[in-house]
Amino acid sequence: MTKTLEKTKTCLNLIGGEWVKSNTGKTFTSYSPANQEEVIGSFADSDETDVKKAVDAAAKAFETWRKVPAPERAEIILRAGLLLEQHKESLAKDMTREMGKVLNEARGDVQEAIDMAKYAAGEGRRMFGMTVPAEMRNKFAMAVRAPLGVVGIITPWNFPVAIPSWKILPALVAGNTVVFKPATDTPYCAYRFVEILQEAGLPPGVINFVTGSGSRVGNPIIEDPRVRLISITGSSFTGRKVAGRCGELMKKISCELGGKNAICVMDDAKLELAVDGALWGAFGTTGQRCTATSRVILHKDIYEKFVDMFVKRAKELKVGDGLDPSVDVGPVINKDQLKSINEYVKIGQDEGAKLLFGGKILDKGDHAKGCFHEPTIFGDVKPNMRIAQEEIFGPVVALIKVNSFEEAIEVANGTEFGLSLSMYTQDVNRAFNAITDLESGIVYVNAPTIGAEIQLPFGGVKQTGNGHREAGTTAIDQFTEWKSIYVDYSGVLQRAQIDNHGDKK
Ligand code: NAD
Repeated sequence: MTKTLEKTKTCLNLIGGEWVKSNTGKTFTSYSPANQEEVIGSFADSDETDVKKAVDAAAKAFETWRKVPAPERAEIILRAGLLLEQHKESLAKDMTREMGKVLNEARGDVQEAIDMAKYAAGEGRRMFGMTVPAEMRNKFAMAVRAPLGVVGIITPWNFPVAIPSWKILPALVAGNTVVFKPATDTPYCAYRFVEILQEAGLPPGVINFVTGSGSRVGNPIIEDPRVRLISITGSSFTGRKVAGRCGELMKKISCELGGKNAICVMDDAKLELAVDGALWGAFGTTGQRCTATSRVILHKDIYEKFVDMFVKRAKELKVGDGLDPSVDVGPVINKDQLKSINEYVKIGQDEGAKLLFGGKILDKGDHAKGCFHEPTIFGDVKPNMRIAQEEIFGPVVALIKVNSFEEAIEVANGTEFGLSLSMYTQDVNRAFNAITDLESGIVYVNAPTIGAEIQLPFGGVKQTGNGHREAGTTAIDQFTEWKSIYVDYSGVLQRAQIDNHGDKK
């Protein structure tokens, strides 16, 4: 089945079960961020004609797929999970080459998809509806979940297999058909994931894969009236634009967007543990997780000690190609992102924050051909500085000093985002107050802001999202509509209380 990366030169779109070239005949190239001279593959540079064909195929397939019993659909999803397990290592290696995250993290990315496949397959035998008492005798009241139809899935590059799996697998088990557009930086990982779904036995047209840009492929998916839902993960900028348009079209839209996540470390915290957590949260995946720890809010009594320990540990991190097992921090995704991260370093310095460590682009020796940035730590950051407010999406962390637990909560909540916040304390009262008062979709106690498990809802509040949650049982909510059903077996016209005020029966 899967071709090795070396042999893969051109990857096509998948439409109606056939691998086909784009209408334009053009291609675009994916490069390794660790070595920009290494070509990963070339991909169909598609346009609205390809999208139309993909939606045609998905709409046709929906008519039969929706009637396949959910447990049967689930068998195919489970098979996909088992195939992912079989191909985990090669997929992880390809991911490291294409996206840059270190190999162990790439394995974790694939593992999320395996877990999600097993979980979503289980939903095929659950997908609970509801039965409630009816107002009348001989009448039955229930509600079931119905699939939406064709759904458009638009994904970012930072979790190139996990995020597509969070969306596509629940969508399919619920009976929808899919048009999938991955990020242009990681199309090969997405291609391999789709290949595995195909091999698992999805009928033609149930999953359609169209590569290309947000404007030429993403937009036409949104505009097509047959696409009933857009599920997008990306930046808040993109999410706002897409959600606005979907609002005008009265289309369902689920957005998972940016974050400005924080760890709070109180004076009673276990400092070693907090340093470990902050290091992993800030520099894991080179800071390119929506849940990355980009602020550490420190109680004044432990500020200096934490800073010493944290900077010392950050200095030990090795930056390089993620395929090298001795490397801790891989490259960032591309040159534009590298530039943008480094601009934030300058912004931080201009704002008066103290550069405690890092700050530079690495472009010599082993780093010369890739997109590498030093892990970077700013001290004396004020909560309203741009580096403490805006998503940088790179290995840059802002340390903020506060006087009290209450101030820590206020600072943690003081951004437009609300994805993941964490509290380090040994005091159970403080822990539960933090759980109550932190404004975020995910709260951790004595653990960093990254590391969600797929069996709980995943998503954020405020500008991070629009109220939907991925993963957990909530994943199914996104991809189904409720259908309420009343069955009257009395044989006479019975009126519900709304129309029955004591008049003759
Ligand atoms: P991005 O917003 O640039 O792109 C995301 C996807 O949207 C890509 O496939 C892109 O091609 C597409 N797109 C862009 N403009 C579009 C348009 N006008 N119409 C339709 N599609 C369009 O994001 P990115 O750089 O790929 O990913 C990084 C961002 O994703 C960060 O902000 C990060 O926080 C966020 N993210 C959020 C979560 C979460 O669950 N909250 C998870 C991972 C990443």
